[in-house]
Amino acid sequence: MGLRGLIPILAGGAVLAQGVYYATKDTKQLLRPPGAKSEQEFMSKCIRCGRCIEACPYVSLFAANDLEGAAVGTPILNMREKACQLCEDFPCVNVCPTDALSGIIKREDVDMGLAVVDEDTCLAMLGDRCEVCYSVCPLKGTAIVLDPRLREGDSIHTIFAPIIHEEDCVGCGLCVERCPIGPRGSETEDSKGNTECAVKIIRDREKAKAETTIRAIERNKTPRP
Ligand code: SF4
Ligand code: SF4
Ligand code: SF4
Repeated sequence: MGLRGLIPILAGGAVLAQGVYYATKDTKQLLRPPGAKSEQEFMSKCIRCGRCIEACPYVSLFAANDLEGAAVGTPILNMREKACQLCEDFPCVNVCPTDALSGIIKREDVDMGLAVVDEDTCLAMLGDRCEVCYSVCPLKGTAIVLDPRLREGDSIHTIFAPIIHEEDCVGCGLCVERCPIGPRGSETEDSKGNTECAVKIIRDREKAKAETTIRAIERNKTPRP
């Protein structure tokens, strides 16, 4: 078989491989609107009608594109672009015809994930005065507090460390949206070279807690300059 005959076969194989990749892509870490339960339950109930997306007055929700494989057409959030504003009346939940989104009466009922602060890039953790995440949090004082403490390895200077309380943070992402660290829009890095925001939402709470613990262990192993 000549090269001409091989080209369609190779192209077909590539398309098939891409199809398999997207069909089997793990969607468990996609950030879902308030009232979504486990990813499996959500995916089985959501009929991709888009009503929640239309109902969101802040345009926080959008439909997943085909890069998200089987989740295409389902509602997701990108907290860095637009977080959930935790509307008092939860229009997204109330319009859902299938109970894919359900069970939310008050803000404290929401569980979209857990915020995790990157202590290596967070300005407050590094000793600068930044309280953005604390100031914008709709549950400040419970979900997030500022902990005045001496900077590690420094017996003089106090930092105001943002501490997330895992039992109260609802994962709305407002802290992520407003954090001054990290790129925005089409940027790949900010002016200081940071390629990521200093706080992120992890949907799987156990994974988020594990990440926080690992960071604490690493921090204790590596003294700050
Ligand atoms: S609670 Fe409000 S801001 Fe959040 S996703 Fe629902 S409609 Fe949008
Ligand atoms: S309203 Fe409910 S069923 Fe419709 S797209 Fe949103 S989550 Fe899915
Ligand atoms: S995600 Fe951030 S802003 Fe939202 S409740 Fe948690 S700490 Fe507060």
